[in-house]
Amino acid sequence: MSTNCTFAQITEALRTHQRFVVMSHLRPDGDATGCAVALALCLKEMGKEVAVWNHDGAMEKLRFLPGSELIQKPPAEPLDFDVAIALDTSTQPRLGDCPAAVRNAKLWINIDHHISNTGYGNLVYIDSHAPAAGQIVFELIRAAGLPLTAAIADNLWAAIATDTGSFQYSNTTARTFEICAELIAAGVNVGKISEHLFQTHPRSRLELLRALLNTMQFTCDGRVASFALTRATAAEVGAGPEDTEGLIDTLRGTEGVMVAVFFEEMEFPEGRIRVSMRSKDPRYNVCKICAQFGGGGHVLAAGARVPGDLAAVEAKVLKAISDAIQHP
Ligand code: 5GP
Ligand code: MN
Repeated sequence: MSTNCTFAQITEALRTHQRFVVMSHLRPDGDATGCAVALALCLKEMGKEVAVWNHDGAMEKLRFLPGSELIQKPPAEPLDFDVAIALDTSTQPRLGDCPAAVRNAKLWINIDHHISNTGYGNLVYIDSHAPAAGQIVFELIRAAGLPLTAAIADNLWAAIATDTGSFQYSNTTARTFEICAELIAAGVNVGKISEHLFQTHPRSRLELLRALLNTMQFTCDGRVASFALTRATAAEVGAGPEDTEGLIDTLRGTEGVMVAVFFEEMEFPEGRIRVSMRSKDPRYNVCKICAQFGGGGHVLAAGARVPGDLAAVEAKVLKAISDAIQHP
């Protein structure tokens, strides 16, 4: 991987250009949404023109975030920008159709916390120890003395709270809490934002969980737990893509389970299986397992999109996990 640029180089690029597009990964979670909107709002405060693009648009449950209305799907006709910024996105294909809609950007900036980031772009800043890309964006804002409004603080909170699993994962550090203290001082209402992020779900999500638990399997002497979602079941319970988020934690939280896997049939024309993986122990590196299938992510949380039908992909992936567990 290439060496990181400095915050000063990124700041210089932000200050000296005018037209920006900020992008993040497919199916944007709280981090992908929050860090993109936060940086976009910050650039707007600086008087810049900013577009915020996501291949899948904004997720319904995150639309309460101030500024999330800026998020648009990339246009069919490419547009000109001075600077294109990719956030929280380990590989360019994970931006979906966004890169193809950017014409003539003088500069690509890549800011991320995924260990598997391929280092694409002209200015690359990867910190795999940061629990969220939003934490890096915060550090950038602070280092450069850029604006931090209440709306920006809400978005950074959403980013950090999501990617630390509500401050439960081991990537949560003293620095994370220092930052969060500053975000509260900047206007975050913890109770209100937590309710939106973690305590409000459509009923379809619960119906979905019931259907998934019916498919639950334990393999490798109970060390691997998985469940699977077919398109038919998703349609039956009326579940959308965002309803699946976080359900895998039910599997991981089970005693004895080291690796949890969620298989999901994608909509046509994608025709691939989305594999979502979680580990409880760094010895079982799910980023490495997912990389065997063209995916990536973090040591304890990773994913891939695998071609093939559901049963075949399940068999292949469970075999790879079993091999990894036997030879860690
Ligand atoms: P999730 O399971 O929540 O979709 O993703 C967990 C982690 O793995 C996230 O950091 C996400 O960016 C990464 N990830 C998920 N799916 C893919 C994929 O298809 N390719 C790559 N490279 N990373 C993925
Ligand atoms: Mn992230």
